Amino acid sequence: LVSRENHDRRSVVSVRGVPIGGDHMTVIAGPCAVETPEQTLEAARMAQAAGASLLRGGAYKPRTSPYAFQGLGEEGLKILSDVRDETGLPIVTEVVDANDVDLVASHADMLQIGTRNMQNFALLQAAGDAGKPVLLKRGMNATIEEWLMAAEYVAQRGNLDIVLCERGIRTFEKATRNTLDISAVPVAQNLSHLPVIVDPSHSGGKRELVLPLSRAAVAIGADGVIVDVHPHPETALCDGPQALLEGDLAELRDLAGTLAALG
Ligand code: PEP
Repeated sequence: LVSRENHDRRSVVSVRGVPIGGDHMTVIAGPCAVETPEQTLEAARMAQAAGASLLRGGAYKPRTSPYAFQGLGEEGLKILSDVRDETGLPIVTEVVDANDVDLVASHADMLQIGTRNMQNFALLQAAGDAGKPVLLKRGMNATIEEWLMAAEYVAQRGNLDIVLCERGIRTFEKATRNTLDISAVPVAQNLSHLPVIVDPSHSGGKRELVLPLSRAAVAIGADGVIVDVHPHPETALCDGPQALLEGDLAELRDLAGTLAALG
């Protein structure tokens, strides 16, 4: 179902009217985690300044340590809905448990499946049933074939509104948080009709790498980027060191514009 065979052209996924795929570059931006209404609204304004047409933000956070901030849960979803009403930006947010899919889908415009859950098949099926577009991150240890098979689990439920996201894989290299497998973008685009975007924030893990990796995403023909921004990264409850600052936003906006011009 997700294979390029039997599909003449690559798909465009519409998220509440915002297209991902086709000949433009979609920027998704926002805080790694929803912390407060004020922080989320400020981050959404930053996202708009960076040319974003979709807001990201986690209400359910899959953290490595059980002692780390786990997200605000339903309260976070309500904050996201309010910020969508205020800014007009549709919301992309992660769901980590199949039992929460209906609740998350009742607020979100797009359901994100994170790297750690790429092969959580019950979650993939529940997301496929939810009637909302799905952003499927590549598992940090997954081959491209495994990633596409995970997408197939969603598609099998009758939902072909799937966007793939390359977010870096585990390698021996420790200088970056993960290794951005930039070649996965054209490979996945050739094997599948689904749009493919890049997460330069979770792959590099460092603010100074986000714009260079975004340039690589633009140059290689990715369909978009998903980027962390935070109004006060020094006090962020999650992944502050990789969040872009106010001063970086104009360059991200220009980059997105460059791709639009390249068509
Ligand atoms: C995220 O985007 O908030 C996230 C946790 O990403 P990943 O699943 O790629 O680590």
